[in-house]
This record gives sequence, C-alpha cells and structure tokens, in this order.
Amino acid sequence: MVMKPPRWPLWGALLLLLTALLVVLVFLAGEYEESRDQAALDQDALGVTGDVRSGLLRNVQTLQSLHAFSPTPQSWEAPAADLLVGRREIVRLEWRDAALRPLAERLSPFTSDVFGAFGRNQSLPEVRQACDAARRLSGPAYSPSYFWPMRDGRGMEVMELCLPLTEAGVVRGYLVATYSLRGILAELTEPATLRGRGLSFAEVDGTRLAVLQALNAQRRALRAQALLDLPGHTLLMQLESPRRALGLFPNVLTAVVGALSIALLVVLYLLARDMRRRQHAEERAAEALAFRKAMEDSLVTGLRARDMAGRITYVNPAFCQMVGLSAEQLIGTGLPAPWWPPELVDEYQQRQAVRLAGKTLPREGYESVFQRSDGTRFPVLIIEAPLIDARGVQTGFMSAIIDLTEQRQIEDLNRASQDRLQATARLATVGEMASLISHELNQPLAAIASYASGTLNLLQRDGSVATTDIDGAIRRIAEQADRAGRVIRGVADFVRRRDQVREDVAPQRLIDAITTLLTLQAKKQGIRLAIEIAPATPAVHCDRTMVEQVLLNLARNGMQAMPLGDPSTASGLRWLRIAIAPAPSAPHGGPGWVRFDVIDHGHGLPDEVSRRIFTPFFTTKAEGMGLGLSLCRTVIEQHGGALSFEPVQPRGTRFSFTLPVAPATAPAPDASSAAASVA
Ligand code: ADP
Repeated sequence: MVMKPPRWPLWGALLLLLTALLVVLVFLAGEYEESRDQAALDQDALGVTGDVRSGLLRNVQTLQSLHAFSPTPQSWEAPAADLLVGRREIVRLEWRDAALRPLAERLSPFTSDVFGAFGRNQSLPEVRQACDAARRLSGPAYSPSYFWPMRDGRGMEVMELCLPLTEAGVVRGYLVATYSLRGILAELTEPATLRGRGLSFAEVDGTRLAVLQALNAQRRALRAQALLDLPGHTLLMQLESPRRALGLFPNVLTAVVGALSIALLVVLYLLARDMRRRQHAEERAAEALAFRKAMEDSLVTGLRARDMAGRITYVNPAFCQMVGLSAEQLIGTGLPAPWWPPELVDEYQQRQAVRLAGKTLPREGYESVFQRSDGTRFPVLIIEAPLIDARGVQTGFMSAIIDLTEQRQIEDLNRASQDRLQATARLATVGEMASLISHELNQPLAAIASYASGTLNLLQRDGSVATTDIDGAIRRIAEQADRAGRVIRGVADFVRRRDQVREDVAPQRLIDAITTLLTLQAKKQGIRLAIEIAPATPAVHCDRTMVEQVLLNLARNGMQAMPLGDPSTASGLRWLRIAIAPAPSAPHGGPGWVRFDVIDHGHGLPDEVSRRIFTPFFTTKAEGMGLGLSLCRTVIEQHGGALSFEPVQPRGTRFSFTLPVAPATAPAPDASSAAASVA
C-alpha cells in the first residue's frame, strides 16, 4: 500500500494561521474601536474648553455690568455678594484702586475662609501680574494659577482675574476676581459630557492642578488634552475616559469578529471531520477494491464484461490466460471476437445478435468453443448475466467463462472405462453363454452330420437314387446350417462392438435381437418365456446395443433366480415375463416414455441384497461379476430414464425401466398386439 504523507502538519499549520489571523483581527478591531473612542474624547475635550472659555467670558461681562451699576464701594458690596452666590467658581471679588489698594471686597459664601490662614497680601504678586497685563491689554487678564493653602490643612489652586475699570480712557481702578480652578471645572462644564470621565487642569509635565473627577488610577485610561488660552495665562485641560474593558464582548465590532471567528472555527472543525470521514471511506473503498482485484486475479474462472455494442470493457487475468491474449489486446475489441474460431463466426454472430436484441439468457449457461491465440480450440461453459449500473440501467453483459478442457478429458476417460467395463460384461455374458451355444449347435451339427452321411450312403448306392431324396436331405442340411448360423450370428451381433449411436428402435426389434440367447437359457432351465408388447407402443430413442444388453441382463438375472428345483416349479410359476407398454405420460406433458418390465417368480430380494444391488461388483453368485445391474442403471440413466425394482406376489421380483419415446414417431407398426409366447 502506498504510504501517504501525514496530513496533521497541514491541518496544524492551517489552524495556526487561522488563529493568528483571528487574533490579529480581534486586536485590530479593538484598536479601531479605541481610536474611535480617542477621537470622540478629543472632540469632547475641545467642547469642554469651549464651554469653560465661554463661561469665563460670560463672567467677565457680568462683572463689567456689576461695576456699571455700582459706582461706590458701599453700593457695590450687595450686588457683588449676589453675584458670588450665582457664581460659585469665584471665591472672592475685590475692587481696587489704580494703585491696587483695596476699596471693597466680598468673599464667596461657599468658601468664606479661603484667606483666613494667610493674608491676602501673600497673593499680591499674582494680582499685580494680572492687573499689569490687564492694563497693557486694556481688557481682562488672568494671572498664572497658584496654590493657596487653607486653614483646615487643605488648599486650592486659584487664579486671579483682573478687569481694568476705565473712565474716559484712564484706568481708575481694578476689579479682581479670584477663581477656584476646581470651581471653574465644576461650574462651567456640562455634567452630561463628563459622566464617568475625569476632568482636570494640569501642568505640561502632567502634574494635576485641579481635579474635578478622578479616575481609578489602576485602570488604563484614554486621555485628551486641550489648551485653554486666556489673556495673560494658558491652562492645559485634561479629559480622561476609562478604556473599555477587554471583556468577552468588548464592543460590537469585536463581538462580530469574534462570532465570525468562532463560526469559522466550527466550519473548519466540521470540514476536518468531513475530510476525515471521506478519508476513511476512501480507505475502505480502496481496501474493497484491492480485495476485489486480488479475488479477480486469483479466480480460475474467466470474467469478461461487454458493453451494449459488444465491445469488451473488462477481462480478468484468468480470461486473458485462457485465450492467450493480454488485457490491452482485448479491451475495446468488438465483434467478431478475437477468440472465435473462424468457421464458427457466423453462428456466434447470430447468437450475439439474439443476446443484444434483449432475449433472455439461459441462467444455467451455454457451451461454446473458443480459440486460443495459438489456434488451438477448447470447450467452455459461458454463464452470462446483464450488467446493471447503480441507476438500474443495463450497460452491458457480464460473463463467467469456465474452461471445460479438463472436465471433458475426465468425461472421456470415464466414458472409455465405462465402455471397457461394458465390453467386459458383454464378454462375460458371452462366455457364460458359450456352453449353451455349443449345446445348441450340437443339435443342428448332429443333424447336418447325419443328413450328410445319409446322403453319402444314398450316393454310394448304385443307380437308383431318387433325386428328390437327395434334394430333401440337402435342403435339411441347409436348414440346419442356417439354424446354426442364426445362433452364431445372434451371439456375434451381440458381442460385436458398435459405436454408440442413438436411433429410433421399435421394441419388437430389441426383443428379436436377444430372443435367441434368451430362448437358449430358458430352454436349458425349463422356464417359460412370455413376451408382451402392448398395442400402439411407440418406438424408443436409444442406443440399441446397450438396451439389448440391459434386457438380456435383467432376463438372465430373473431366470437365475429360478434355478431348477426352485419352489416356483412346484407352484407352476416357472415363467419369466417381459412386458413392454407406453408409460402413463407425465402430468405436464413432455416427452412420452415406454416402460419395460421384466418379471420373475424366483426367490426375490432379501433386504440386505436389495440395499446393495446396484453396487458394482456386488454379487451373491459364485460365478457372478456383480456388474450387471450397476451397468444397467447407468445405461438407463444415460438415456434419461430410470431403473427400479419391486417384489411381486406371490413371489419373485419385477425390474422396470423407462426409455424416451422416439421424437415424432407413430405407434410402431410392427408391435404385435398379441402376447407372444416362446417355449
Ligand atoms: P451378477 O448377476 O453378476 O451377480 P448383477 O449386478 O446382475 O450381478 O446382480 C447382483 C445381484 O442381485 C445378484 O447376485 C443377485 O443376488 C441379485 N439379483 C439380481 N436380479 C435378481 C432377481 N431378479 N431376483 C433375485 N435376485 C436378483
């Protein structure tokens, strides 16, 4: 068997590649999602700075309007306090003159002790820095942010806003607002934008100045920064959003990719399973094919397939060996086939035409003769069957061909030995009869001798010899010589070996051929011989010599069963009957049969004898050969008939056999209707 390279490395590589592809896909999907989140966060960060900027601008306008209506420090305080209630991000409001001396001030009610721990003067540099910038810009300006510790140990990052108060182009004073950076984050942003996010002001190095919402430090976060540039100072705003957790289904895209990957893996698994099944099926089919091939190759029966046009589509080695041609030479050849003997081509063509016309083929097959490539002929038995494909359509014919050469040789051998046996049996019969013949010949010879000497005496007498006497004597001599000749001819006829030919014979002629011999024996034993041929008994189709011998054997056995001194003598039953009559025909018609009965009234057959009666060489007689009955049965069966026996009353045995009626024969004309009785 051819070793196939193992497939698992291929499958392993495929699985590995696919897994790598899927991991990359999931990773890319995650990356994509994250970059989208980052973009959204960046956008939101810009939005938040925009909100803060516009909030601060609104505050500047409100502060300016506060001053427009409250020109004196006394009247200023109350609206300033109101304003602080509405603006939580401002922790303190001051009105200072042009030299930055405080004129009026107001603290936010929410963080009243902001400047309790340290004096306001501590932050003057930042105020001054802002107001210098404001004067320069002629508009609001902010100071850098700074940390302001509070009394309770905490502190806050604050930033000063300085708004110059001008009158006819001359700076008369300043409005200073102290902003809490955390307040800015809390008050000036949209809470909806910040849900779940962290917002802070930070230094460039990342140090946080003010934090609105802090994210859990452990979690990696997306971060977006935006600059909030204010006149006089620029702040860095930082918006943070928690990275989405990489769960089983982190987001829709990844989930889809994941689901697709799982589906792909499942499909891959199913495909692999299907492949494995196919592989198993293939292996099984290959094994079955190898087994079939081995079987076909080792067969001694030739196999041959033909298509509907008579072309060879398959031959097995046994067939090739039979006809002496290779499979390549045979496959594809049409009619006439290369193994047809040239003189039989016509006959075979006709047979083939009948087969191709769809006529039914004999199941038991038919015999034919093939020719080998070297020209020798051999007999074959062909068993043919239609070749039906999986769809039930006939695609051709399949034939099994058996070489009958050996079988024929064995049959010939059997036949030859059978013939020899029969010849021996015949000779044995003749030997037995020889004494009878000599006895029988004695009579005519003695008569001839006496007639001859009488004639001589007459002739030696002088003169008066009546020619009529001599004539009569010679006539007698001739008669006796004729009688002796008939006896001898009867024996010679019987002994002479003839070819086995089947012919149509009238039963009477069969009887006539053996009458001489039968009569001799019957006379010797004092037995009466009765021969009855029923009227209208047809001729039989048989090998005449053989059947005569069967009749002779049976009759002789019957007579031997009634030896002299047998009780049959006393009871007056000392006679042997041969009856021939048409057998009742079979119920289904068929060929007719003629039945032959040989009935004796001898000692009959004991059980022990009747069981072995047909066994070759079984005999109860001192001089017997024991071949008679076994040969008789073989002969009758070769003719298609049957040989049987049964006891008859009051004593004796009936042997019966049947022979086929000659085809298309009229009832035998010479069948005598009357019973012939010979002494
Ligand atoms: P053979 O006559 O040489 O003995 P057969 O085969 O003819 O051989 O007969 C076998 C035996 O069958 C005989 O020896 C005899 O015992 C018995 N047998 C045959 N025919 C008869 C018969 N008609 N009546 C009684 N016995 C018979």
